[in-house]
Amino acid sequence: MRDTRRFPRLWVWAAVAPLALISPALGLTLARDGRSLAKIYVKAGQPGPGAEHRWRGKGMAGVAGELAAALEKMTGAAVPVVAAGSTKEIDAAAPAIVLGALAEKLGLKMQTKSPARDGFRYKVIGKRVLIVGESPAGVYHGVYDFLESLGCGWYAPGPVGEVIPKRPTVTVPDDLDHSEISDSIHREYWGDSVWALKNKGYRGIGSWRHAWGHLVPRSLFADKPGLFAVTGGRRRARQLCTTNPETVKTAASALLKMMRAQPGRKVFEAGPNDGGGLCECPNCSKLRVPTYLEPSSGMEACSDLVLKFVNDLAAITSREHPDKYLGFYVYSEYSRVPVKVKEIHPNVFPMMAPIRRCRYHGPGNSRCRWNLLFLEEMRGWAKRTDKLGFYLYNFNLADTLVPYSKIGFYKRFQGELHKLPIRMLAHTPETINSFSMHAPHLYLSQRFMWNSHIDIDAEMDRFFTGFYGEAAEPMKRYWLRIDRAYVTTDTHTGSQYGLHHIWTDELLAASRADVEKARRLARTPRVREAVAMAEAGLRCAELFMRIWNAIGRFDFPAAARTQGELKAHIDAMAKKRNPEWVIPRYGWGYYARFVGRSVSGGAKALAGDGRIAVRLPDVWRSRKDPKLLGVREKWYRRDLDDSTWRELATFSKSWDDQGLGWYHKDAWYRARFGVPAWAKGKDLRLWFGGFDYNVDVYLNGVILGEKRGFATPAEYAGIARHLRSGRENVLAVRVSAGGLAELGTGGIMMPVMVYLPGQPGTRNARDD
Ligand SMILES: [Zn+2]
Ligand SMILES: [Zn+2]
Repeated sequence: MRDTRRFPRLWVWAAVAPLALISPALGLTLARDGRSLAKIYVKAGQPGPGAEHRWRGKGMAGVAGELAAALEKMTGAAVPVVAAGSTKEIDAAAPAIVLGALAEKLGLKMQTKSPARDGFRYKVIGKRVLIVGESPAGVYHGVYDFLESLGCGWYAPGPVGEVIPKRPTVTVPDDLDHSEISDSIHREYWGDSVWALKNKGYRGIGSWRHAWGHLVPRSLFADKPGLFAVTGGRRRARQLCTTNPETVKTAASALLKMMRAQPGRKVFEAGPNDGGGLCECPNCSKLRVPTYLEPSSGMEACSDLVLKFVNDLAAITSREHPDKYLGFYVYSEYSRVPVKVKEIHPNVFPMMAPIRRCRYHGPGNSRCRWNLLFLEEMRGWAKRTDKLGFYLYNFNLADTLVPYSKIGFYKRFQGELHKLPIRMLAHTPETINSFSMHAPHLYLSQRFMWNSHIDIDAEMDRFFTGFYGEAAEPMKRYWLRIDRAYVTTDTHTGSQYGLHHIWTDELLAASRADVEKARRLARTPRVREAVAMAEAGLRCAELFMRIWNAIGRFDFPAAARTQGELKAHIDAMAKKRNPEWVIPRYGWGYYARFVGRSVSGGAKALAGDGRIAVRLPDVWRSRKDPKLLGVREKWYRRDLDDSTWRELATFSKSWDDQGLGWYHKDAWYRARFGVPAWAKGKDLRLWFGGFDYNVDVYLNGVILGEKRGFATPAEYAGIARHLRSGRENVLAVRVSAGGLAELGTGGIMMPVMVYLPGQPGTRNARDD
């Protein structure tokens, strides 16, 4: 793939009237003083971009219509669109913009070819701007790129993102000749495809999605259980037994059927169903290495198992369809570099989906062992194939509540990507379209998909200047500071559990100052709206941090009140739909799932005149128990000497933050506390704000029982009889890991308290 793009393009002379007057021969004038001199010509009946581009317009005349509309906004003059039967109908005396087939007839050819077949070229020949493409989609990209060269930009969906400068006179240089092709064969932007296409961000050639469920349907399980995976000692109708030759045959014939039915498609999905449970039968187990683990879960890496199967399928399908590929995600327990299967079949097209790798730091960032691993994986997979796709994530893991920026991530990714010997690229950035939280890198991800060699700094300068106009200076500072905060943080924890390390008081204050400055500078309604969108995102971070800090003070009633404010704020933001300022299902939904339940639970516990008797400390004594000795050796005993146990924070730092991110076995916690005199004899309860995933709780050596769940509050009633009044009490907790591997959490995650429930209908009393 070659770099076809250079910034900045200095030949944009539009509206440089004095120059045009002195030397009119140097430019082709399309409009003068608000009058259009040019018409746009297309071949009557020529189709526009197809469904694989998600374009919703009609024919090449529709493409011309979009160009005419933009030029009209620019110059104030209507630009006629002529659907012509042939080039003979083009007015020879007047300037013209000629698109597609007619432009080719006039002699303009693409000089380069791309695997994606949607490159473009535009060139001034005589009195005409000719725009051609490898396909109608290429012409479409050419039209929008041409408009960009006149200063236009589509920085976000909707009117707020559209920037079309007012230029009563439009002159383009008469040596204008520009062409581009994409170095990605597949670009799948989630969300607004109309907007994506204006930034060259959509082109679908197939699918990499989870596939086994439809390649070998569950309905076959009753007759042929041997096709399906063994887990926990028995066959289940879930994943496949991939070393069974009949499984290979069945899946390959399903793929061949799909290939025959969809001749236009290039990539056919062939990877496992989502979720774990790959086959553990003796034959499949030969492709596992017991000591080679996926560190996020502690389970055996299964890359060899998956790759062997997809290779076997490709060996069959490529005989009939040598030009079609089998895609699968390098994902979850099959992320690590294969060790037993050395080759990737030429018709296999892996796509890395680093869901288990930290989303803050970018591949190779030395602060981040997750991203060092991701880099190792990029290199390892690329060593075995010349085709590699990337399913990067445009949002923080299980969090879209607060502003988040991935510019630094993309820069690092770009640097490492270009060291790999990849010939064919594909991109599917999974995106949640929360523009108040993610606007800059949502734009960036599309530009990057088109051309992975773009100058990211220049591209982002274009974004900040174009989108934020007169408020660009503080808004650029605002976003780049946030970007730096993520890239340089020492936390890697997903969801909202690491945000307090990033959204410090300093970051909040500096961000607020920038947004206020931007508000003062914003004069046009469009820029005011762009700034208001960012400000709404910042407000979420401010409210979230108030909640988080209140949780840390055990002030659940205050946290719940702010939570109500946050909900109302998000509901108000959700009314903004084009672009979407927030997606409540995720912005609020992830929050409610991971933090909100603890807040609501704590507030409910203390409702009425509920009163806290004991706040357990943030830092406990802790010991790993990988061999499950704790119960036998009674690590819960009140008089156990735990002075040699390590200190482990519960609420202020995640397991991953404390070096336990790759630890997935049991651990114990112990804490000591006294009970205040007022609580003596009262019907106290022990309350946990949240843990991961399974806890057994012992109070003064007496087991209170087991609770399960992730970030779900749990409590024990009637504990008064086990408490020692006026003396030291010991709380011991055994925790074991559960299902959510990739967040970096573990053990006790939220505050623990002993409290006296209130009476319904009474006001909150002050606790001691
Ligand atoms: Zn098997
Ligand atoms: Zn990291």
